[in-house]
Amino acid sequence: MKKDLMEILACPLCKGPLQLNAEEEDEKEVVKGSLYCASCSVSYPIEDTIPNLLPPEVRNQDREVA
Ligand SMILES: [Zn+2]
Repeated sequence: MKKDLMEILACPLCKGPLQLNAEEEDEKEVVKGSLYCASCSVSYPIEDTIPNLLPPEVRNQDREVA
């Protein structure tokens, strides 16, 4: 995920700003880490450079279906 994306990304639940926690990054983008919404106390994972901004409920439903 390119860090520029932080400017347009917002929490899907409250549309508030997200905090980036990068665990692994290369010179261009964040490879692994999380995006955290302080208002909702929810963190969204970034895996293989892809931020997963699905709300937690949707993510759990996906898991049950699969
Ligand atoms: Zn939020």
